[in-house]
Amino acid sequence: MPSYTPPLRDMQFVLHELLQVDKEFAQLPPHAELDTDTVNQVLEEGGKFAAEVVFPLNHSGDREGCHFDAATHSVTAPVGFKEAYRQYVDAGWPSLACDPDFGGQGLPLTLNNAFYEMLNSSNQAWTMYPGLSHGAYECLHAHGTQQQKDLYLPKLVSGEWTGTMCLTEPHCGTDLGLLKTKATPQADGSVLISGSKIFISAGEHDLSANIVHLVLARLPDAPPGTKGISLFVVPKFLPDAQGAPGERNPIFCSAIEHKMGIHGNATCQIILDNATGWLVGEAHRGLNAMFVMMNAARLGVGMQSLGLTEVAYQNAVAYARDRVQGRSLTGPKAEDQPADPIIVHPDVRRMLLTARAFAEGGRAFCSYIALQLDRELHHPDEAVRKQSADEVALLTPIVKAFLTDNAWIACSEALQVYGGHGYIAEWGMEQYVRDARINMIYEGTNTIQSLDLLGRKVLMDNGAKLRAFGDKIKAFVEAHGTDEKMAEFITPLGDIGDKVGKLSMEIGMKAFMNRDEVGGAAVPYLRVVGHMVYAYFFAQMAKIALDKQNSGDDFYKAKLATARFYFARLLPETAMLIRQARSGVSNLMEMEESLF
Ligand SMILES: Cc1cc2nc3c(=O)[nH]c(=O)nc-3n(C[C@H](O)[C@H](O)[C@H](O)COP(=O)(O)OP(=O)(O)OC[C@H]3O[C@@H](n4cnc5c(N)ncnc54)[C@H](O)[C@@H]3O)c2cc1C
Repeated sequence: MPSYTPPLRDMQFVLHELLQVDKEFAQLPPHAELDTDTVNQVLEEGGKFAAEVVFPLNHSGDREGCHFDAATHSVTAPVGFKEAYRQYVDAGWPSLACDPDFGGQGLPLTLNNAFYEMLNSSNQAWTMYPGLSHGAYECLHAHGTQQQKDLYLPKLVSGEWTGTMCLTEPHCGTDLGLLKTKATPQADGSVLISGSKIFISAGEHDLSANIVHLVLARLPDAPPGTKGISLFVVPKFLPDAQGAPGERNPIFCSAIEHKMGIHGNATCQIILDNATGWLVGEAHRGLNAMFVMMNAARLGVGMQSLGLTEVAYQNAVAYARDRVQGRSLTGPKAEDQPADPIIVHPDVRRMLLTARAFAEGGRAFCSYIALQLDRELHHPDEAVRKQSADEVALLTPIVKAFLTDNAWIACSEALQVYGGHGYIAEWGMEQYVRDARINMIYEGTNTIQSLDLLGRKVLMDNGAKLRAFGDKIKAFVEAHGTDEKMAEFITPLGDIGDKVGKLSMEIGMKAFMNRDEVGGAAVPYLRVVGHMVYAYFFAQMAKIALDKQNSGDDFYKAKLATARFYFARLLPETAMLIRQARSGVSNLMEMEESLF
């Protein structure tokens, strides 16, 4: 059975040494008083909750799955999930980073983010129940009327009620413009909604007293396509005059999916049969409003994958220390044993270091984005808020796609460390691989994230946001370019920065002639930019580690070794990816459809 230890040391390194959050928080009025000890204490307590309450339910929840009762349309989560959720609510965790006006504790998203990494390492399926609620909270907070905020936010903040996002329909996933669910306005300002939604995560369960569905539907006068979609809040139980769950609203679960992973999370088919709802934000601009939730969810999915990468890595290391097979090529290392532990073999180390580098790079990157979100929300200077918002916009598709692709690789490598035992259910590694796979699909497939990055965030913007991020890299390269000890990091970082600039221009030129060029290049392009971002963070982490490598703390030695591995073994993937991206689209489009 797997085990999990919250990676508090590395989290503290990222927050305090790499990002220096205390200085950053000091500039944000709501967080100005937050000190290092409080940050560390929250991380410690959060880690304890995740490891002691949520983690023990991961394997059993996967084995048991959710239960659907067709007679009552009810869903029961696996044994222990409800009790763990009650403890989560009782301890006040849902309110950590929520607005104090609605009962929140008002702590930074950066902290919530770190907490979510630990929850996801412990149990991704369970964490999706509160995770989606936080997205619903953010959407209503940004776009709800005052009345909607007063009614729903305190319940979502306390965790008494949970939330969902209902976008997908049987005929429409990526292309939401095809959406058919109808909303018919009523005299009292509400709407009656009819239609069917599929694949709705946490769409029905027994964890909370009410479920707040955020549903995309069309009003009668809606223009076709994505410009005619509106967003509605549709509670499972209609709140009564006191705001308590009252009459049952006809929004029902009609089945749950049997699926590859995340068995403990109910993936629901949902029928709306004249369910009562209320418009959120402006009519026909629902996608805009929903984007708040979708962007939060995209970062959340990146965190899911970071969590899985970390836990898979930890277990693979423990196994590799314990399992003895063969002798080291340079002679026996454990002479008292019949064979050496497999951690002596170079290729086992390659697999472990791949997972480790993806975890450490991902942690630095996700924490950085969360900090940018805090700056976007609370920095007193409008120009800084705009700069942070631009960076978040640029980096969100990368956090979603790069981390989830990397987690799939990392979990698979971690499983491989176990050999055949990795493939056997009782060791728990195959669950991580199965759970990791969905993260590449939902919240916009990774192809769609890549198109968003290259098409919308880079080309439509004439590369402005990318250049602004590139300027940070250039500044770092210039600052440390003459430091010989940094050359092994600075030279490849400067090189990948230049290459990304040239590649973006080249694809942009080709796209003028043929828009398909964007579709042909987008996926390798995103991975190249993702590596540029990781190289930037690993170079910064290497600088700190170099300065402290003689401090007697082995943490810095390990950080340096991981950074070296990253630059030597993972970053070079970009050479192949750049060739793929530059190869043009003709090799994909040449074959006639009938020949497939
Ligand atoms: C377990 C699970 C949980 C989910 N949870 C939710 C949820 O809570 N709420 C919700 O609303 N939805 C949810 N989804 C739905 C999920 O977001 C969709 O599955 C996803 O958006 C893809 O849509 P689709 O499955 O219809 O695939 P399609 O859109 O049919 O895509 C099929 C393939 O074609 C590619 N493709 C499609 N269009 C393009 C294009 N324009 N250019 C290039 N490639 C393209 C896709 O990348 C994909 O590889 C969930 C799905 C699953 C499996």
